[in-house]
Amino acid sequence: MRVDCSTDVGAVRASNQDACDCGTFPDGGAWIVVCDGMGGANGGNVASSVAVKTIRDIISSGFCQGMDPESVKQLMLDAVDLGNEAVFEMARGNEALWGMGTTVALVVVYGGLLHVVHAGDSRAYLKKDNTLEQITMDHSYVQDLVNLGHLTPEQAKVHPQRNIITRVLGVHPDVLPDYSRFDFAPGDMALVCTDGLTGYADEHLILEYMDRYENDGARLVKELIRYAVESGGSDNVTAAVIAG
Ligand code: MG
Repeated sequence: MRVDCSTDVGAVRASNQDACDCGTFPDGGAWIVVCDGMGGANGGNVASSVAVKTIRDIISSGFCQGMDPESVKQLMLDAVDLGNEAVFEMARGNEALWGMGTTVALVVVYGGLLHVVHAGDSRAYLKKDNTLEQITMDHSYVQDLVNLGHLTPEQAKVHPQRNIITRVLGVHPDVLPDYSRFDFAPGDMALVCTDGLTGYADEHLILEYMDRYENDGARLVKELIRYAVESGGSDNVTAAVIAG
């Protein structure tokens, strides 16, 4: 199993408020955490980097060989809880950081399963054969309007309030992430990314790039990011892939 991740400031922003990390487990399997921070001054950078570091530490230190799926799920939920707490406590202790927060998308592939925990509008996708499925549903104002039938997904993409997210890490004492899991077989591929990628790259393009660079995950994430930056790059861009 191979995992690669990368992040880029984009073409417009002065700083990168996205953060990501990834790694593998000693007995097979891999993990990715992606965060897209928000908040004035340095708040966004701090929120996303503190969340990524906290979650990475919990996943790396808490993982045990032969872990069953329910234990993996619990470890991931604990990691996100502690990430929330770390950002929340830091914001409480520093007036300049008040109100900072971050999205989170945490993916673990282990024992033939892909587990995903997320809050906010950073996304995970799963490729099987020639199909790509978005496996997270955005926690956002425009997604709520789509779910209610008031907007089409195409209208949501260009809606002026598309950046309003409805669940976030670090702003409240508790976070309510979504959890789900899927079969993950050899040849499958998982992508985790921020809205800086999905704002420009649709599923057809992502699938085309996955086919073109299927044997080189590092190149795949670089090329996806390059596409988003060259298409406008109005936001920070982060992409990460696990290839089974
Ligand atoms: Mg973003």
